[in-house]
Amino acid sequence: MQAPAFGVALSENPFVTRSPHYRAGRRTPRVRPLLAGPSPRATSPELFISVPSTFPRLGVAEPLLHALAVQRFETPTPIQVGAIPALLDGRDLLGIAQTGTGKTAAFGLPLLQRLATENVRPAPFATRALILAPTRELALQIDASLRRLATNLQLRSVTILGGVSRFRQVQAMRRGADIVVGTPGRVCDLLATAELRLGAVSHFVLDEADRMLDLGFIRDIRRIVAALPARRQSALFSATMPKEVAGLAESLLRDPIRVSIAPVAATTPKIEQQVHFVARDQKRPLLMALLGDPAMQRVIVFTRTKRGADRVAEGLEQAGQTVSAIHGNKSQPQREKALDRFRSGRARVLVATDIAARGIDVTGISHVINYDMPVEPESYVHRIGRTARAGASGVAISLCEPGEHGALRAIERCTGAPIAVAGSTQSGPTAAVLKPAGNSRRPRRRNGARRVA
Ligand code: AMP
Repeated sequence: MQAPAFGVALSENPFVTRSPHYRAGRRTPRVRPLLAGPSPRATSPELFISVPSTFPRLGVAEPLLHALAVQRFETPTPIQVGAIPALLDGRDLLGIAQTGTGKTAAFGLPLLQRLATENVRPAPFATRALILAPTRELALQIDASLRRLATNLQLRSVTILGGVSRFRQVQAMRRGADIVVGTPGRVCDLLATAELRLGAVSHFVLDEADRMLDLGFIRDIRRIVAALPARRQSALFSATMPKEVAGLAESLLRDPIRVSIAPVAATTPKIEQQVHFVARDQKRPLLMALLGDPAMQRVIVFTRTKRGADRVAEGLEQAGQTVSAIHGNKSQPQREKALDRFRSGRARVLVATDIAARGIDVTGISHVINYDMPVEPESYVHRIGRTARAGASGVAISLCEPGEHGALRAIERCTGAPIAVAGSTQSGPTAAVLKPAGNSRRPRRRNGARRVA
């Protein structure tokens, strides 16, 4: 994004075109309340999105429509249908949705449109909008998505992340920014030295709030929020809504519109889910056998620990696979290089831990393999959401050893659906290693894997 253009009179500004309901003098979005309630302005009304919509009908203005067309975003996703009109109308938003639902454009389009409309010059070290994400990868991805959407606008964005040179970030902030996308730790660092000033922020987005709390960022978030002006527009997104997140939302948002998109596992029939019961020492041969399937074009393998990720990656490399690994002990340039290799297809397999993989947005991931079962059921939903993105289909395969049966049961409780047991037939290339470990008490299904609706 470029430096902002100045001196555009409001009437000449393409963004004076407001959303249709704004023009009609209505301040509430057109979407209907899901629950019979007194009025859509009652506290946090939940919205039911059923009508297929278009971006112009949501109120998105021309320069952004052009960028959407270039990216072939033809139909808005449900979170976009729910969020865009509300945010364009200046409402706060509580979005219960995870990565993969199109939520970046859901908050990004109105944000860019409003910033371009307001057309204010940021002071040195100040920013007009702040977007917080729990990981560097997600922050970089948000920044990249916004840049793609803003190609026809003159807005300046700066990323403020840990793990990379602070100096460059401070240099970039000298000119001020329209948008800062950052992770809480580094944002707090720069805030403390006044190399980032938040007094002029008019738009605030907190992404993946549940993950932020899991990662222990609550104190940083509170410090950051305390530095924001009280008069601002805020949006909070979270995949899940435990009471800590609900409390945070309550303290951050003012009379928010609430848009809830059911979790991927419950809504994506396109993800075929399977579990293999396997002894621990058989996981590696099983993984190798599975990778023998040419349908596995682009695969993420999840491990629980960083050391585990390194070990699996080394083993695969020795077996002749093209592999990248990404986890918390890798430096930011190493992570970006690993992601680049995977994205470009130079590495067929990406081995990752949960936190490092959070928010990875790589299209065309055909398979997700849980080499270790995730400890938290929500992580399972996030992991499998790496595949079947933007309308594609995908397969999620879990390798479950005897000690992980409890984790499997917790996942099934969370998603509300049993995961099909694979390998109950003895045919196929993997039969030798597909035998379930002795103490599996799960019933075997005759037809092996099936799609889970
Ligand atoms: P997000 O949830 O923002 O990470 O988006 C997930 C993926 O969906 C990204 O690859 C986006 O580029 C893509 N995407 C977002 N909105 C749309 C849309 N309306 N049509 C098609 N793809 C989209």
